[in-house]
Amino acid sequence: MTESSSSMANAVPWIVPRAAYIHIPFCAHHCGYCDFAVVTHQDQQIDLYLEALELELQRLQTPRPVQTRFIGGGTPTYLSLAQLERLLAMLQQWLPLEGKVVECTIESTPESLDAEKCQLLAEAGVNRISIGLQSFHNHHLSTLERLHRADVVDSVVVMAAKFLPHRSLDLIFGVPGQTMEDWQQDIEHAISLPIDHLSTYGLTYEKGTPLWKQLHRGQLTPVAEDIELEMYLFAMRKLQECGFSQYEISNFAKAGGSCLHNEVYWANHAYYGFGLGAARYVHLNRELNTRSFSEYLRRCFRGEDPTFQRETLSEAERALETLAIQLRRARGIHRTEFQIQTGYSLDEIAGDAFSPFLDSGHLQDDGTSIALTTTGKCVADSVIAQIFSRIRNTSQWSLNHFPSG
Ligand code: SF4
Repeated sequence: MTESSSSMANAVPWIVPRAAYIHIPFCAHHCGYCDFAVVTHQDQQIDLYLEALELELQRLQTPRPVQTRFIGGGTPTYLSLAQLERLLAMLQQWLPLEGKVVECTIESTPESLDAEKCQLLAEAGVNRISIGLQSFHNHHLSTLERLHRADVVDSVVVMAAKFLPHRSLDLIFGVPGQTMEDWQQDIEHAISLPIDHLSTYGLTYEKGTPLWKQLHRGQLTPVAEDIELEMYLFAMRKLQECGFSQYEISNFAKAGGSCLHNEVYWANHAYYGFGLGAARYVHLNRELNTRSFSEYLRRCFRGEDPTFQRETLSEAERALETLAIQLRRARGIHRTEFQIQTGYSLDEIAGDAFSPFLDSGHLQDDGTSIALTTTGKCVADSVIAQIFSRIRNTSQWSLNHFPSG
């Protein structure tokens, strides 16, 4: 399949990708709560990985212009200057940025960033940096097993602001031992820095991680659910007051600061994915690369596809998936856009399933779109799961489209 840049402009965004994710798995250390595809203590393999990544990109055969690139990890800025330069050059060759507004994000950590790297990134077209900060309190950073100390963060963000026009920070709430006061300080400190985007995530105990093991051995006490809820409500209220609008359940941005790449995911549009464990959604197929580092290298060097899993959803399944994903956006699901994207009427699919949540105040309907209310955002996963199950188990539409149940 070939695709010219002019055809990209006209291509349907949920079928032909205009976004690309590139995974760089290396980290200086594996944080206690992290279950991403991460590689530590194998720095001697970084050059080999970049070679494998280039081989995977070459499988495209022709360059694919994209509007957004997201270089995630892992810690992409853990790479040396020369390695970063090589990475950015191969991305520019195979995934050139094209469009009126383009975005190239790189993920980073406070301890892996310096002025030289920022300058190189800026010169290579990176215009957005997302820094994994998580907390301004050293004891919480220790619980999370993060490497950096809180006192380096201010100078790192100020330094990044000299080179990169958009800066985002990640903060985690619900860390064992964290108080409401700690969290208020974290939010207030973050927004005093030169950033235009903030992501706030409730801590999750992913199965098999060191933090999950500590929890199951009774070695730590999770923050009570009602405190976590208060923390989330505080973040929503405070950030709104300070000019950060919430455009997704966990994401807040000043005007012009929202992450265009992540908006592709939340629209359920298509995207490329390259590298260890990377997911992609291309031409209506969902694919996942192998998470085994040695297998990834082996397959790429043998000229084989590193895809480990492939799934083609039916049209009805895609419509349900689009509904669940778009409900995470503050603007929710736009009826007309949904119909164009999926071929189905939102009300026909989910009208009955939405009703109890409209009555209970978890959803709002302005006639054009259906969206979560503030109350709904606090229990978003549960609301979305219940809507899903009502559609699947009780709606006439579902019986027509999933006759076997
Ligand atoms: S730095 Fe980020 S990706 Fe790396 S181990 Fe820690 S949380 Fe995971």
